[in-house]
Amino acid sequence: MTREELERRVCRVRQELEEAAGDRWPVPKLIAVTKTHSAEEILPLKEIGVTEIGENRVQELKGKLPELQGRFGIHLIGRLQRNKVRQIIHDVCMIQSVDSVPLAEEIHTRARTAGKRMDVLVEVSPAGEEQKGGVPFEATAAFLKEIAPLEGIRVRGLMAVMPLTDDREYLDGLFAKTRELFDRLRDKRLSGIEMEELSMGMSGDYQIAAAHGATMVRVGSAIFGPRG
Ligand SMILES: *Cc1c(COP(=O)(O)O)cnc(C)c1O
Repeated sequence: MTREELERRVCRVRQELEEAAGDRWPVPKLIAVTKTHSAEEILPLKEIGVTEIGENRVQELKGKLPELQGRFGIHLIGRLQRNKVRQIIHDVCMIQSVDSVPLAEEIHTRARTAGKRMDVLVEVSPAGEEQKGGVPFEATAAFLKEIAPLEGIRVRGLMAVMPLTDDREYLDGLFAKTRELFDRLRDKRLSGIEMEELSMGMSGDYQIAAAHGATMVRVGSAIFGPRG
């Protein structure tokens, strides 16, 4: 893809986010999801003002890291195995997919060893799709309380992956429900927990997400084209 085409696509996404957020919400931050794309394809994003990228595989990220490091804030957005945490603890600015206490504890331990505190989001499960992971809504408050004492992590908010569906009404409901959960948890002011970021919305639904108060969207194929 040419640099011009890339810029056109990013501009369109930004514009649509702005329109969807309207007067009601701040415009969500765009995280460009760069999985399956080479460092060569990714680097031009920097010149068009994209500062944060999302990757979902540790091994793939490590391969591209020498070229990306220091140029972008890197978010780990996919399921993360505990035994891989050590490999990325120095490299990413946020881990968005924390949905188990053992994983939170491992990040805490590795971050402490590295002398840092890792920003994390707790992944919740809006549609209750078990195979996709995520903490069930009704268990989220207890989960937050359980991981709040871990000094190696800083909980910044929630992340959600919506089901693949064309049912607009159903999606509207799920995004609204997720924003409500976020507001409810924020209003609880749980000790040791920040509720500032709500990461939801991908290429198929980022406008709906922005209309429902996402603070971050994770957009891949709407920028780079469909994955092969
Ligand atoms: C791949 C991925 C995205 C981006 O998906 P697109 O449909 O290409 O925008 C967002 N979030 C997660 C967790 C992903 O794995």
